[in-house]
Amino acid sequence: MSELAYPYEAPASQALFDRAAAVTPGGVNSPVRAFRAVGGTPRFMVSGTGPYLTDADGREYVDLVCSWGPMILGHSHPEVIAAVQDAVSRGTSFGTPGEGEVALAEEMVARVAPLEQVRLVSSGTEATMSAIRLARGFTRRTKVIKFAGCYHGHVDSLLAAAGSGVATFALPDTPGVTGAQAGDTIVLPYNDLDAVREAFRAHPGEIACVITEASPGNMGVVPPADGFNQGLKDICSENGALYVSDEVMTGFRTSRAGWFGVDGVVPDLMTFGKVMGGGFPAAAFGGRADVMAHLAPAGPVYQAGTLSGNPVATAAGLAQLRLLDDAAYAKVDAVSKEIQGLVTGALAKEGVAHRLQTASNMFSVFFTDRPVRNYEDARTQESFRFTAFFHSLLADGVYLPPSSFESWFVSTAHDERAVQRIADALPAAARAAAEATA
Ligand SMILES: *Cc1c(COP(=O)(O)O)cnc(C)c1O
Repeated sequence: MSELAYPYEAPASQALFDRAAAVTPGGVNSPVRAFRAVGGTPRFMVSGTGPYLTDADGREYVDLVCSWGPMILGHSHPEVIAAVQDAVSRGTSFGTPGEGEVALAEEMVARVAPLEQVRLVSSGTEATMSAIRLARGFTRRTKVIKFAGCYHGHVDSLLAAAGSGVATFALPDTPGVTGAQAGDTIVLPYNDLDAVREAFRAHPGEIACVITEASPGNMGVVPPADGFNQGLKDICSENGALYVSDEVMTGFRTSRAGWFGVDGVVPDLMTFGKVMGGGFPAAAFGGRADVMAHLAPAGPVYQAGTLSGNPVATAAGLAQLRLLDDAAYAKVDAVSKEIQGLVTGALAKEGVAHRLQTASNMFSVFFTDRPVRNYEDARTQESFRFTAFFHSLLADGVYLPPSSFESWFVSTAHDERAVQRIADALPAAARAAAEATA
């Protein structure tokens, strides 16, 4: 990219990025952070307060990424910080059980009815990997159904037609995943129950589980069609397979009880991460007690973790969940609606074809005039318009996900001042999107 393409480039971030690139592949520790989909210099952030992030050049941004979901109370929430400081003062890891992890598990079980037991882990990837292993161990079957565009972390067997960074880079697959690892994975189009029925007919007695994002946010926001999740659950039940609902993104975000709290479909197993960690590496999988009883040491399916249930991470997660009452969700929902309205208003005013899709307070914009029901649809969007839109907003101090295949996230801390800054930045961004060429 020429300097002229991004006249507002951040020199301090660029210097850090150059240093990073020397010691880390691509200069980042998670691919989407590198801005490859949109070009330009990734911003290295030095601090966050409420709805704002400050980068190494001292520029402030309204944050619409919220660490990809976890920061639902905004950055540096004083009560979460206090809980973390209190936990840290007592030590950072014991390698023994502790009360914090019990309290976090109790809070989760109390909020999500189908969650009878949980096991804590350190990342969403670990959660889905372990849930799949447990589903296979419980059913003594090998095959797994997943949907194109759904991302379940970088689990070998689930890195087939995954969304998120994989969607961004349009990698059909990744080197390093063997045919044996991916061979038991059946990838189907999202929102297509007939395809699921057909797969069960073609593989009788072989399918251990169907794993799906409770409401997908990793190909942009593509909510389940009416009856889709219930249909999956019913097909699984009829065929002796488990229905695994991946709520790593939606859990404790889309409602008090996550997406389960929205559609009420009862999964056999669920996975969590992001919000439940309060900005720390805490994640979980859980569900039916009779299935979870197959997990070591209660049962034969092995699973473990040196830092699982870490006292600092669980303190942060518990403090965050306890602050997430009905009023907090009402606030996140309301500010999300307000921003959604501003975005569509600005784009409509410039005549830019777009679809704003929502799943409770999660939302994203597709630059297309057709509804997006699956990954194939998502890939027809005019991503070059997103690139122009993104860079205009970035220049004006609004930080969007650096890819058109990601959900946008807001927090309880997004107040009138933050919303006003978005409103002020949108007209120029909409114009940039209108004028963009492929
Ligand atoms: C983020 C995400 C994951 C992976 O979680 P990590 O903590 O990044 O490993 C899995 N599933 C979904 C739905 C996610 O959004």
